[in-house]
Amino acid sequence: MTNKDLANAIFPNITKTIEDYEKEYPKRNLPDGAIVSRFAPSPTGFMHLGGLFQALIDYVIAKRSGGVFYLRNEDTDKAREIDGALELIMDTLNSYNLTPDEYEYNGKMIGNYGPYIQSERKEIYHAFIKHLIEIGRAYPCFCTKEELDLMRENQETMKIRTGYHGRFARCSRLSIEEAIEKIKNGEKYVIRFRSNGNFDNKFVFDDLRQGKLYLNENDIDEIIMKSENMLPTYHFAHVVDDHLMRTTHVVRGEEWLPSAPKHIEMFEAFGFEAPKYIHTPLIMKKEGDSLRKISKRKDPEASMSYYDKLGYPKIAVIESLMTIINSNYEEWHQENPDKKFTDFTFSADKMSTSGALYDLMKLEDISKNIISKMTKEQLCEESLAWANKHSESLKDLILKDKEYYKSIINIEREKENPRKDIAKYSDIESLIWYMYDDIFYNKEKDYEWKNVTDKKEIKNILDTYMEKYIDLTDKDNWFNNIKLMCDELGYASNMKEYKKNKEAFKGNVADVSTVLRVALTSKSNTPDLFEIMSLLGVDKIKQRFNKIEA
Ligand code: GLU
Repeated sequence: MTNKDLANAIFPNITKTIEDYEKEYPKRNLPDGAIVSRFAPSPTGFMHLGGLFQALIDYVIAKRSGGVFYLRNEDTDKAREIDGALELIMDTLNSYNLTPDEYEYNGKMIGNYGPYIQSERKEIYHAFIKHLIEIGRAYPCFCTKEELDLMRENQETMKIRTGYHGRFARCSRLSIEEAIEKIKNGEKYVIRFRSNGNFDNKFVFDDLRQGKLYLNENDIDEIIMKSENMLPTYHFAHVVDDHLMRTTHVVRGEEWLPSAPKHIEMFEAFGFEAPKYIHTPLIMKKEGDSLRKISKRKDPEASMSYYDKLGYPKIAVIESLMTIINSNYEEWHQENPDKKFTDFTFSADKMSTSGALYDLMKLEDISKNIISKMTKEQLCEESLAWANKHSESLKDLILKDKEYYKSIINIEREKENPRKDIAKYSDIESLIWYMYDDIFYNKEKDYEWKNVTDKKEIKNILDTYMEKYIDLTDKDNWFNNIKLMCDELGYASNMKEYKKNKEAFKGNVADVSTVLRVALTSKSNTPDLFEIMSLLGVDKIKQRFNKIEA
């Protein structure tokens, strides 16, 4: 009996050969240097910041080189699969404008290299496994979990490297007859790759991020097909899919680096060229003085839903990730403020060699800058789109009077040094509520009085202002009037004079403006007071001032 008999006993219905598949999925017809990259998440119901980080690299390197970026759904672990997970992944990529060129979704397949869902590729994997069995590079293994646990325990007590290798690879020594007999008897089995490697030999592995690494050859007979569902393991699916889909660059988490020798050996067993690899660093966060890995369990910001809920502009999240993807991105962006992130030339060797430190404060800064440059129309539309999904109350405010809302958010905007107090759409309501009478009067609020706290004095300022000085014709007049009132009431209208002789005055023009500001809004810190007053108008101002009791 030959290996062919064994292969036929296991896969009697597989007739296509790997050559057939080579023809079906020929080399892609792309310009020289074009990169084919893929995002290959497992559908576990969660879109991690690290996932977007990888997808972003995939996207940038493919687009910049005139290549292809595709999405592959790695759903071979049926136990961990969550309904709607692919939808979440697709929605996230689409919302960040990182739509893949090729994918399979909702029964629709875009691209000539699919299926892009691994569970639909079973026949392909079987053909490739069949080939390995025929050439003696794969075999069925009948070891039970108990036997494998015992083997591991023995290895541990003997202080031998654990795993199914060398003399421990028992089933690798079964004769073809024995193996076929066991299969006929209905014994459960997995398929293992037959390694020819020697762990004591080193080989050079060129990781595009970390450079040349000296890794030990693989000598583990890794499982390539599970017994349940006869689906492949990650290791095998990676080799077959990235070969057939003609991936040139694999961007994946560095937790896969220790498995790279297995993958390289499998590519060699088929005679395929391995893709280039970029193993990405862990995303870290600062906690006190130390750094730790961002954790799905502990850190809400690990999930992309966090950024959605708070309403950061998508481009701000992308920019913040770009700054940790390449150390020179920020400088490049400052020098090329009008260019898009896709114009940037990513270099894997400019990635952090340790972890990539993600800083939410940095995101806030980037985001404030981006929002500050939006026109009022843009900010109105973006914040409304966000509110439609995440905030009934902001949505109501906007729709009640869109023009008024635009005027409010446009205070100190669309100018050279625009306001930068909005980092995310969920900040907006807390910055504008006092512009709406119905909210203003119904809200419990603390008036944030500053230097002038005596209620009689406050009342005196407000009354005098209302009687004689209220004037909203233009900003100069308005301010002049406040200064005139200062002179009348014994406050310094000129800061220099005030500094020279503080005792001579009750306070200064800033103190008086603060009284007006706080009486009007309850806040001591607001954008431009003249603009706020102009938007509210004389009647509302008077109404609010009259509410302040001595
Ligand atoms: N499905 C694997 C994961 O989610 C993909 C790794 C890879 O990109 O090759 O970790």
